[in-house]
Amino acid sequence: MSRKSGVGHETLLKRKAEEKLESYRRKIHMKNQAQEKAAEQFRMRLKTKQDEMKLEGDLRRSQRACQQLDAQKNIQVPREAWYWLRLEEETEEEEEEEKEQDEDEYTSEDLSVLEKLQILTSYLRQEHLYCIWCGTAYEDKEDLSSNCPGPTSADHD
Ligand SMILES: [Zn+2]
Repeated sequence: MSRKSGVGHETLLKRKAEEKLESYRRKIHMKNQAQEKAAEQFRMRLKTKQDEMKLEGDLRRSQRACQQLDAQKNIQVPREAWYWLRLEEETEEEEEEEKEQDEDEYTSEDLSVLEKLQILTSYLRQEHLYCIWCGTAYEDKEDLSSNCPGPTSADHD
C-alpha cells in the first residue's frame, strides 16, 4: 500500500465519520426541536387551562356577589338564572335533560364562561356599582369610573 493511498483512505474514513456525526447532530437537533415544540404545546395547554380556571373562579365570585347584592336590593329572582350560583350542583344527567328541554330556546349554555363573566361584570357595575376585582361597591358611577381601573381582571394586575 503506498503512502498516498493510505492518506486517501484515512481521509475517506474521516469524512465518513464526520458525515455520521453530522447526521447524528441533525437527528438530535430535530429531536430537540420536536421536544421543544411538545413542551411549548404543553405550556400553552396548561396556560389555557389556568386561564379557564381563573375565569371560572371569577365567574363564581361574580355570581356570589350578584346574589348577595341583588338580595340587598330585595331582588328575589335573578335577571337570568345563571346570574346567581346554583344552590346545589346539578348532576350531569340533569344538565343533559335541561339541555334537551330548552333546545330551541336561548339558554345560558350557549354562552362561554368568558361571555357570562363579561355580561355579569357589566351588570354588577351598572346595577350595583360593584367590581369583584376591587372587591368594592362604589358610591356612584363617577366614584366607580375614577377609582376602578377597568372592567376586566387584566385591568387590575
Ligand atoms: Zn375594579
